[in-house]
Amino acid sequence: MNNPNKQNILVVGSSNTDMVIKTGHLPRPGETVTGGTFFMNPGGKGANQAVAIARLDGRVTFICKTGNDVFGNQSKHLFEIEGIDTSFMFSDPDHPSGVALITVDSNAENCIAVASGANANLLPADLSSVNEAIGKADIILMQLEIPMETIKYAADLARKLDKKVILNPAPAQPLDSELLQSLYLLTPNETEAEMISGIKITDDHSLQACARAIYNKGVRSVIITLGAKGAYLYNDAVQEYIPSYTVSAVDTTAAGDVFNGALAVAISEGFELLEAIRFANKAAAISVTRVGAQASAPYRHEVDIFV
Ligand code: ADP
Repeated sequence: MNNPNKQNILVVGSSNTDMVIKTGHLPRPGETVTGGTFFMNPGGKGANQAVAIARLDGRVTFICKTGNDVFGNQSKHLFEIEGIDTSFMFSDPDHPSGVALITVDSNAENCIAVASGANANLLPADLSSVNEAIGKADIILMQLEIPMETIKYAADLARKLDKKVILNPAPAQPLDSELLQSLYLLTPNETEAEMISGIKITDDHSLQACARAIYNKGVRSVIITLGAKGAYLYNDAVQEYIPSYTVSAVDTTAAGDVFNGALAVAISEGFELLEAIRFANKAAAISVTRVGAQASAPYRHEVDIFV
C-alpha cells in the first residue's frame, strides 16, 4: 500500500495551542472556580492535518505563522518530532501564537474563547516570499482558519502551476466562485456543504443534490463527509456513497482533520479517489476511538492493519 514514489504535500493553515481546564462547573461572569485540572493540547486545523499526514507516512511541509513565544517554539519542535518539514514556518514578531482557552465542566459542557493571533497575520506577502514551497509541492491542502486572501493567493498560484489544491472548507463560511473553480477537491462536512450549496441534507436525494450544486460551481470533485456514516463522492465520473467503519467512538474531535490528512496521503500515493476515501474513512474511524486532536491521529501501520 505504501508507495515510495509519493508526491509532496504542502499544508497551508493554522496552528493553535488549546489550554483546557476541567472544572466542576463553568465560571459565571466575575466568578473564580478553583480545584480544576489543567492540560495543554496542540491544535489548529492546519497543524492537525499536517500531523495526520506525517503519521501516515506522507511527505509533508507545513506553512503556518506562530508568535515569537513559547507556544510557537513548542509547536515547531513538536512538528519536527513528527517529521514535518518546517522550513517555511513563519515567526511573527508582532502577534502572539494562536490560542484557545477552554473550560469544560463535569457534564462536558464547554466555554471556549479563541485568539487566532499570528494565524490571522499569515498574509499573501508571506507566501509570495516562499513561492518555491508551492513550486515544490504536488498537492496543496488548506482549511479556513487563516485569512481568505491568503487561501486565494495560494490556490491561484497553485492552479497556474498545475498543482492539485484540496480545500477543507472548515470552519464554515461562504466561498466565492473563483476560488471554487481553482480547486481539485473540496471536502466539506454536512454543515459546510449545506452552507456552500444552500441545500439542506435530509436524505440520499438531497445529499446528491447538495453535492451536485457544489460541483456545478466549478469544483472538479466534491467529497461530503457524513460523520459516522462515512462520505459521499461527486464528480463527472463517480457519484457514490462510501460507508465508514463501525467503531466505539469516544471523541470525534479532529475526525475531519484526520480524514483530510489521510485523503491527501492516499492521493499523493496515486490512489483513485474512491480508494483514497476508504483509506481516509479507516484513519478517521481509528481517530474517533481515541481522545484528543493531534493525539488521536493514527500511524500508517495501524491503518494498514485496520479491518
Ligand atoms: P468533521 O469532523 O469535520 O465535522 P465529520 O464529522 O463528517 O467531519 O467526520 C469526518 C470523517 O470522520 C467521516 O467522514 C468519517 O470517515 C469519520 N468519522 C466521524 N465520526 C465517526 C464515527 N462516529 N465513527 C466512524 N467514523 C467517523
